[in-house]
Amino acid sequence: MDTDVLIVGAGPTGLMLANQLARRGVRMRIIDRHAGPARESRALGVQARTLEIYSHLGIADQAVALGKKADGAVLWAEGRRAARVPLGDIGRDVSPYPYLLVLGQDDNERLLGDALRARGLGVEWNTELVGLAQDTDHVMATLKNADGTRSEVRVPWLAGCDGARSTVRELNGIAFEGAPYQHVFFVADVKMTGSMAPDVLNVYLWRRGFHLLFPMRGTDHWRIVGILPPQLRGRDNVTFEETIPTLRHEVGTELSFKACNWYSTYRIHHRRAARFHDRRCFLLGDAAHVHSPVGGQGMNTGLQDAYNLAWKLAFVVSGRAGATLVHSYEDERLPVANHLLKRTDRFFSIVVSDRWLVGLLRTRVMPKIMGLALRTAAVQRILFRTISQTGIRYRRSPLSEALAGLPENGPRPGDRFPWLRLKFQPNGRLEDLYGKLDDTRFTLLVFGQAAPPRGIPELGDRLHIQELPSDPLNDRELARARIPRPSFYLLRPDGHIGLAGARLDAAAASRYVSERLRFS
Ligand SMILES: Cc1cc2nc3c(=O)[nH]c(=O)nc-3n(C[C@H](O)[C@H](O)[C@H](O)COP(=O)(O)OP(=O)(O)OC[C@H]3O[C@@H](n4cnc5c(N)ncnc54)[C@H](O)[C@@H]3O)c2cc1C
Repeated sequence: MDTDVLIVGAGPTGLMLANQLARRGVRMRIIDRHAGPARESRALGVQARTLEIYSHLGIADQAVALGKKADGAVLWAEGRRAARVPLGDIGRDVSPYPYLLVLGQDDNERLLGDALRARGLGVEWNTELVGLAQDTDHVMATLKNADGTRSEVRVPWLAGCDGARSTVRELNGIAFEGAPYQHVFFVADVKMTGSMAPDVLNVYLWRRGFHLLFPMRGTDHWRIVGILPPQLRGRDNVTFEETIPTLRHEVGTELSFKACNWYSTYRIHHRRAARFHDRRCFLLGDAAHVHSPVGGQGMNTGLQDAYNLAWKLAFVVSGRAGATLVHSYEDERLPVANHLLKRTDRFFSIVVSDRWLVGLLRTRVMPKIMGLALRTAAVQRILFRTISQTGIRYRRSPLSEALAGLPENGPRPGDRFPWLRLKFQPNGRLEDLYGKLDDTRFTLLVFGQAAPPRGIPELGDRLHIQELPSDPLNDRELARARIPRPSFYLLRPDGHIGLAGARLDAAAASRYVSERLRFS
């Protein structure tokens, strides 16, 4: 077998997995049944956690340069301007990317595809997975090739990144539990002028629904998302022109359209796969979970699924961990999907409900509360942590272990280790901790005590040690993050804390690695 992992699907999730496996030396193939990358931009919001991951891939600066920072939102209630919500850098002190970046899915896929090509690898287009059979130590996949022929591929691992209608999920007989929402949505990519506030997200709330207008890169370039008016529901082939009268009525009579680059209607589902892992196959991204686009979480969640699985598969494939390590992928990511589905469902119900009282809440109460609440720093921080996905944590994971002396109100095992600016040398300058992390290895951060001279032998060269010097600026930053001194944190390659405690106990660290990475 000359391939370790076959990735099915070259959407954002598959491309992220391909990149992360390739940079960890895993031999992989990535196939897609389409002839080339998708032209539509679909998802729009790139969250801070995704940009943090992009920075390890070397594409964060390009993404930021290509996208548009969401500086704020203007809320309109029944045609009247109701509130302006500042967004801007609401995640200051939480992430080096303290904002929401508006950047289309097509641009994200291009950056990820370019990064893969820079490694001399590429997607095998026009190649479709049509069959698979699993055995204890491999998968036999049947592929339909570009020339119509079929071939069999034997691989140790197969990753289903093949979207909401996942063939991998179906061929494994895994249920996709949930239901469609009753509303039909439309999305349009247009050039237009009008009375909307420039360069900010415009939210138009009506008793019977809403419209969202996202400013895109380029002059007069907007993305519109809304609910199809009742008279157009239940019909195929609705055109953008048919949507215009409702838009003029609800967004402004002075709207003037210069071009519509693409238009699509779609039904949203909220569903989750019963399992994300079945023996040698995994489900990631839309193949594992779909939900409403509220909050711009869909694409980002798929990207994080890939980041979570990649380092584990790389450790297993290289023989540094036992095969059971990959079980923690489902242990960690399935609860994240559950939580996301519940949260987006609750919020979505308020945003789309046809009920009179909810309509009143949407147009009268919500804009006022949001306008006021989102001006307070504490609410901004909570909102940012939730939406940016920097608050995702795996505290109940089998990979999370706390030793004695760790405070309850500080970072705990399972959490993403906080972003800090620290001095790494006694007389050095303040540096970005995330810039110092190597996400292909574990990192041992040691505060207020000496690092173990032999490191953690069980990790060998897969460990990077940072012993932080005592310094008033470091102390202040640690106090802000509620990190005690002395303390130590063993970070997994994906930046989440595996083991942590007050006094560094080399034997406990060795035991953690032997048991947790080789657990059977
Ligand atoms: C109209 C629309 C608007 C959206 N807007 C937003 C938004 O604003 N915000 C947001 O967060 N999300 C949005 N989404 C959702 C977002 O697009 C998805 O979450 C994202 O595309 C998921 O990426 P993925 O890689 O998991 O799957 P996909 O992007 O669906 O990629 C799956 C890939 O697998 C390939 N494939 C499928 N079956 C096979 C097979 N058998 N063999 C080989 N290849 C196969 C497909 O060709 C495809 O390229 C929107 C979705 C739609 C449809």
